[in-house]
Amino acid sequence: MAGSFGCNNGTKYITSNTFVENQDYQYSFSGSSTGNITVQKGNNGYYFSLNNFLYFVDEKTLNATPLCNKVNCLHDKETDQSKLAECNAYLSDNLLNTDYYFINKKLYKLIDESYFEGNKLIVINSIYEAQSDGTQSKKIFSINKQIKRWIMHRGMIYYTTDANSNVESYSLESQNTKVCFNLDNLGLYNPELSNMIAYENNMYYCVSGYKDEKEFNDMLDGADISPFEYIFIYTPDGEEEYTLSSKLSRNGIVFQGFLDDNMLYTDADYDEKVKNLYLFDKNGKSIKLNYKFKNIYDLYYEDDSFVYIRSAKTIDDIERNEYDVYDKKGNYITSIDFPDGFSNEFFMGDNKYLFYLENSEQGTNLFCIDKGNLKNGYAELKIIYSKN
Ligand SMILES: [Zn+2]
Repeated sequence: MAGSFGCNNGTKYITSNTFVENQDYQYSFSGSSTGNITVQKGNNGYYFSLNNFLYFVDEKTLNATPLCNKVNCLHDKETDQSKLAECNAYLSDNLLNTDYYFINKKLYKLIDESYFEGNKLIVINSIYEAQSDGTQSKKIFSINKQIKRWIMHRGMIYYTTDANSNVESYSLESQNTKVCFNLDNLGLYNPELSNMIAYENNMYYCVSGYKDEKEFNDMLDGADISPFEYIFIYTPDGEEEYTLSSKLSRNGIVFQGFLDDNMLYTDADYDEKVKNLYLFDKNGKSIKLNYKFKNIYDLYYEDDSFVYIRSAKTIDDIERNEYDVYDKKGNYITSIDFPDGFSNEFFMGDNKYLFYLENSEQGTNLFCIDKGNLKNGYAELKIIYSKN
């Protein structure tokens, strides 16, 4: 029977409405400012990708090592550019997208294999599957386009080749490709996919767009017109289940994460600069929660133990990156003063650790915080990786 699953390893993928560790997209590890996948939960540790290399961190020692077991390899210390690709830990350096996934005990990486034929650029983007230690890498998917964003979830690859392009899915089992989210059929002018999330047995597509060409051009000419925003909830096969839209009021609608089986989102009244937090339940109902945002730039995260809120009135506040931590009853526990910086990233992580990436011209630092200590109000930033 296993033979009927093509080149894959015969895994049966679950289609239930519960989070399945090892098969599901690790949504709590996507970055706060870009959505980039820098950290992934692995077996007895974590992976992270920085400066074109993939590392593994032991969860007990928090020691980070390049994910390569070649004895004569210098890994991230190699200075000869032509030898870099031989390192198992090396990720292509000509890719805009360095996302990778650890799923179903395998690692998946995107490799840019584009090359010049004379003056003509032949674009090839491929996805490789490797063992958890980075060895036995093999190509499982290839396309003659640049992949701009891709996620993996329950045996499927979902990808876009442009912010305005449809989302296509590729099944590891059947090896079939199909359009699973069609931007052209939404009745919007210049629709753009701003976020794509997989959770349990649904896909969540966040889209913004304009009513018509005139409105879009007015906006380009400087008119104060914000786009309509939508969150589309689809089945993995591409059937629409629910649509949340700001079409009537033109207020913002922003995906915020998940609480148990339900999606959290905020609306925003841009005139009053107030956001409300809603829970969208599986019956298609929106329930307004008690929490009210003070500022448009506030961020909200909720995991099994804590609620994290970054309150920011201005861009300067966003650079400050101070997060208040509450327990699930709304009691204040502590504040975490992360390093300043506009392009820093917060990763909510799992029940053990949250992660924080400092990205500046001075260098890159990856920190973690032990959530076990956070319960006692103790938020120590431990450094995992540092490069100046
Ligand atoms: Zn190496």
